[in-house]
Amino acid sequence: MSVRNLTILGATGTIGVNTLDVVARHPDRFRVMALTGQNQIDKLAEQCRRFRPRYAVVLDADKARTLEQALAGNGTEVLHGVEALEFVSALPEVDSVMAAIVGAAGLRPALAAAKAGKRVLLANKETLVMAGRFFMQAVREHGATLLPIDSEHNAVFQSLPAGYTGDPTAHGVRRILLTASGGPFRGRAIETLKDITPEEAVAHPNWVMGRKISVDSATMMNKGLEVIEARWLFDARPEQIEVVIHPQSIIHSMVEYLDGSVLAQLSNPDMRTPIAHSLAYPERLEAGVNWLDLAKIGSLSFEAPDLRRFPCLGLAYQALAAGGAATAILNAANEEAVAAFLERRIPYLAIATTLDQILQKLAGEKADSLEDLLAADAAARQAARELIATAAVGTA
Ligand code: NAD
Ligand code: MG
Repeated sequence: MSVRNLTILGATGTIGVNTLDVVARHPDRFRVMALTGQNQIDKLAEQCRRFRPRYAVVLDADKARTLEQALAGNGTEVLHGVEALEFVSALPEVDSVMAAIVGAAGLRPALAAAKAGKRVLLANKETLVMAGRFFMQAVREHGATLLPIDSEHNAVFQSLPAGYTGDPTAHGVRRILLTASGGPFRGRAIETLKDITPEEAVAHPNWVMGRKISVDSATMMNKGLEVIEARWLFDARPEQIEVVIHPQSIIHSMVEYLDGSVLAQLSNPDMRTPIAHSLAYPERLEAGVNWLDLAKIGSLSFEAPDLRRFPCLGLAYQALAAGGAATAILNAANEEAVAAFLERRIPYLAIATTLDQILQKLAGEKADSLEDLLAADAAARQAARELIATAAVGTA
């Protein structure tokens, strides 16, 4: 493998930090060309001192000035704004872009990387949930290589036949089985779900993740977003994608073939495995991950998800069936509702009821272009904010 030049979008986040951890183990294999972050300027400065990228990008001009001062004489050029994120995603000398910004903000730079024909290491699932059709089209038209970082999709990717190009049936694939841990509330008494606090919701039993995706894991909206992600990544119909709860998070997902074979990818729950897989693909690299000790784990168990406990999962299937802008609307309303829950402006159960109401209100929005989807995203945020502010949200 020749040296790969990397841009890491969202370098200061959980995925960004894990990516740099893998990169640091192989200094002869990777060169960091650009790092980006939003608020944690000290952390970004420290990463820049260590990895010496050509560019560092933040969102605001103020923070750019602070970072510039911190990096004076370091040889890293500091840029700011969304255009700068797109610029470092499309640099001619960059071959791989880790897209690890959280939320809808990740779409534009990920799309810029796809349009520049890069190897796109996609952690930002919201890109596919918002604009899967347009993103996949950009990947095809510009000869980009799409490698999934989300552990489930990375597992599916590894379990599919080599050269899989979409159309499951033509490749002998019957179903994609996405595993889910069930999060912290899988076994909690249903009548106490109304009392869940942000602290309880972000305490995931198996994975250490950012706050937004941790709440999504607790509601299982994360799995709903992943069903939508799988629909686009693997060209599968909703009925070909099934969710199974597997509390140990050792099997990261499976592919069932027409002959009854089921192939799975197993590993300890450590994001450095899918990250290293995608960084090195089609080669393999040591990732610093503990070796799997199956005898110590003892048993793996499975159960069907309960949609009364996890209504967000059902809403995701509904949005996928509705098509058009519905999944972008679901995603935007979810970001607003999760932020409101984390700030204690709405109770836990109001996340799902907010999404349900916004979907019912807006699901017919147009989706003929990327602009339509961004408009639907904005309309859904506005409607969700109003609903949250007027406390018109039912929590029953
Ligand atoms: P995080 O909150 O830890 O980090 C988010 C990163 O995005 C930070 O670097 C932050 O500075 C940057 N960012 C946030 N808002 C931004 C904005 N508006 N503009 C520019 N940059 C912004 O999140 P994470 O857990 O690392 O997750 C990142 C993405 O990866 C998410 O889409 C998540 O769904 C996905 N993902 C994460 C995991 C995991 O284990 N953490 C697993 C699978 C998928
Ligand atoms: Mg996942």
